[in-house]
Amino acid sequence: MKILVLNCGSSSIKYQLLDMATETLITKGLVERIGLKDSVLKYTVEGVQRKIERDIPGHSEGISLVLDVISKGEHRVIDSLDEITAVGHRVTHGGEKFKDSVVITDSVIKDIEACIPIAPLHNPANLEGIYACRKLMPDTLQVAVFDTAFHQTMPEKAYMYGLPYDLYKKYGVRRYGFHGTSHRYVTEQTAKLMGKKPEDLKLVICHLGNGASVTAVKNGKSVDTSMGFTPLEGLIMGTRCGEIDPALVCFIMEHEDMTAKQVSRYLNSKSGVLGLSEISSDFRDLEDAAIAGDERAEMTINAFAYQVERYIGAYIMVMNGADAIVFTAGLGENSPYVRAKVCADLDYLGSRLDAARNEKGEKTRKISTDDSKVAVYVVPTNEEIMIARECKRFLNK
Ligand code: AMP
Repeated sequence: MKILVLNCGSSSIKYQLLDMATETLITKGLVERIGLKDSVLKYTVEGVQRKIERDIPGHSEGISLVLDVISKGEHRVIDSLDEITAVGHRVTHGGEKFKDSVVITDSVIKDIEACIPIAPLHNPANLEGIYACRKLMPDTLQVAVFDTAFHQTMPEKAYMYGLPYDLYKKYGVRRYGFHGTSHRYVTEQTAKLMGKKPEDLKLVICHLGNGASVTAVKNGKSVDTSMGFTPLEGLIMGTRCGEIDPALVCFIMEHEDMTAKQVSRYLNSKSGVLGLSEISSDFRDLEDAAIAGDERAEMTINAFAYQVERYIGAYIMVMNGADAIVFTAGLGENSPYVRAKVCADLDYLGSRLDAARNEKGEKTRKISTDDSKVAVYVVPTNEEIMIARECKRFLNK
């Protein structure tokens, strides 16, 4: 069973073709600069990276090129598109309508389109991928997997903002949360690792990458998460500000003479650790600078780690305890430096990081001491496998 997983951004398409008999990667690639000068498809087959530079005016042409590369020519990995049994689409926002993944139909497309006003930066690009695949592979099962779906189990008290209720009724203004596919995958993997069922665990999952969010997962269900109405809320991120005093939006608009569109770009693309450090949005650069003695870099990492720590504390309280704290995504999986800062104050939990385990070991591992009451793990995320598993679930039905 071969499943194609697509993640379409406004000018990019990331894809993976997976063999789900063994959950292994067959090929992956990235189309970049769609509709711009110098568009390119970069792909990897059997560990060798290749690229095709050509004009790619839209998502349809991008997906068409990907399908050609996969199924025709000297680097093909399948002989016919019929070998692809399903396509899984990552869709950012499913609003309150989608509490689970769905098989894509005309009416599902209408409902995803209806979510565009609350996800104007993401859903239109996801839809482009869906339109293109339905045109190019009309007989293949297409499944939408939503970043928000896993968090639809949050109770009202966790998702309502202190704003007039009318905004919720009119526009669906509430916390939705994102990275749901990752939080769900990591929940399942952690439970396996601990030899338990997700239903029997309380986990705090820290997805720390360029975008970052912390989720409280109680009995296998998300009960609170740090991202909100959009992925801008919560932790300080690579270029996103995370939580700030909302009065600052008006303050910045007034004092920096910005329109609503400009301030949105400023908070999404110019802020976060990039804006704070004035060095980089990449934690590798910040760590290097901090270790070399750059005080601003150190302050930035400290501010980030402090926020993660604060969310962990809050979520352990709301779940009335925790069995494990789990680190995942680019930074969470790869930075012992940041993990050590986040976990500096675990004594009250009766837990301690094991310095050697934190520093190196298997990709998936426990990094707390064996006598820690709340265990700490590193568990690599894999959103593509989770999306493909969702497709498989529908194929098996
Ligand atoms: P992601 O969005 O999950 O792909 O994570 C990407 C981010 O992870 C990068 O921007 C870096 O900030 C961070 N990262 C990746 N590898 C490392 C590493 N070895 N040390 C520190 N940070 C890392």
